[in-house]
Amino acid sequence: MRRKFIAGNWKMFNGPKATSEFLNKFDAEIKAAPEVQKAVADGKEEIAFFVPAVSLLTAVCGAKEMPVIIGAQNTHWEKSGAFTGEISVPMITEIGATHVLIGHSERRHIFREIDEELNKKVHAAVEGGLTAVLCVGETLEERESGKAFEVIKRQFVEGLKGMEGKTVAEKVIVAYEPVWAIGTGKTASDADAEEICKFIRGLAAESYCAKTADELIVLYGGSVKPENTKGIISQPDIDGVLVGGASLKPESFIQIVKNA
Ligand code: PGA
Repeated sequence: MRRKFIAGNWKMFNGPKATSEFLNKFDAEIKAAPEVQKAVADGKEEIAFFVPAVSLLTAVCGAKEMPVIIGAQNTHWEKSGAFTGEISVPMITEIGATHVLIGHSERRHIFREIDEELNKKVHAAVEGGLTAVLCVGETLEERESGKAFEVIKRQFVEGLKGMEGKTVAEKVIVAYEPVWAIGTGKTASDADAEEICKFIRGLAAESYCAKTADELIVLYGGSVKPENTKGIISQPDIDGVLVGGASLKPESFIQIVKNA
């Protein structure tokens, strides 16, 4: 049985002060939701927040007594060096964060990150002890020209090049986030999201083996909100959600967690 993974991606929101305030409120929400506490304690569900680098320390400290995971939104692949503005895996682990997003569509499209670099980041993250959440997703143009599967396959295969199946199953999560659904209010239909997530699981079977495919956690992201969570999460190949906008308010994010 795969665990559920419900994650918030805060993007460039919530500095240390707002992070601390958010976590205090979210703590109260979790304390009022014994079913959520139980699901996490039983290992059936994980709740995570991917926070800005400057808020990582505050988040790790603030969440110490809470059943939530804290992750970074990006990392460099080198451990240290002359890379102004970057942070590294050892820095992230030193703070106590355990996960990192790799290749979010905003990184791919605004900051022009390419598959080859993302592959180095996945290797660095996993070798340094982090769980890597590799994001994949096609643009509207790619979808309309019938290239969605091809794009997803390239991002999956290139992004995970050189990884062993066992490592992928244990230390990698794949998030399918169609670019046209991110921050647009346009969610993929449950069936469209399932179609691609199932395809991703098939790619894991093809690249590795049936066991890896069966164990791989696959998420959907793109305009997830409390109202559409149930439909998405009930799809057989979708194990969780990566939530942007709706993760910024404790009261709406807890609702997503409950609906999942
Ligand atoms: P959104 O963002 O939920 O605001 O569409 C999702 C994401 O970018 O991870």
